[in-house]
Amino acid sequence: MDYTFWERLTGSKLIARGELTPRCGECRSRMRLHSAPRLFLLPVHQDKGYEPSAEYYAGACRPLDRVEDIPVGWRACRMRPLACPQCGARAVLVVDFLRVRGQEVTEEIAVCEYGPLSGLLRGACPEGAV
Ligand SMILES: [Zn+2]
Repeated sequence: MDYTFWERLTGSKLIARGELTPRCGECRSRMRLHSAPRLFLLPVHQDKGYEPSAEYYAGACRPLDRVEDIPVGWRACRMRPLACPQCGARAVLVVDFLRVRGQEVTEEIAVCEYGPLSGLLRGACPEGAV
């Protein structure tokens, strides 16, 4: 997690929507979205908590094709691969949400290391491609 204090207060909604990207943990440049988002089911019911980490998501997430496939009351997350235009560092923005009456309510936002999630991302189709 590498937000400035200001971004913590005001930027998280924009980041959740993909309109603002987090800064690079290495050189502080604004990272760029590197490829299409992927959608995953989380084994988390409603507002239950967990400790967000790349390792947790790598073990817990199951690919989903469409938001319509999320079982009622269960959480899902959208992973957006990021790359730094300055130093080439990679990361993954994970936005965990609960669907409530068709709206996506953000529950957690995490910026994770790319490495532990690379296999999971390779095994999932870009959202909307199916
Ligand atoms: Zn960088």
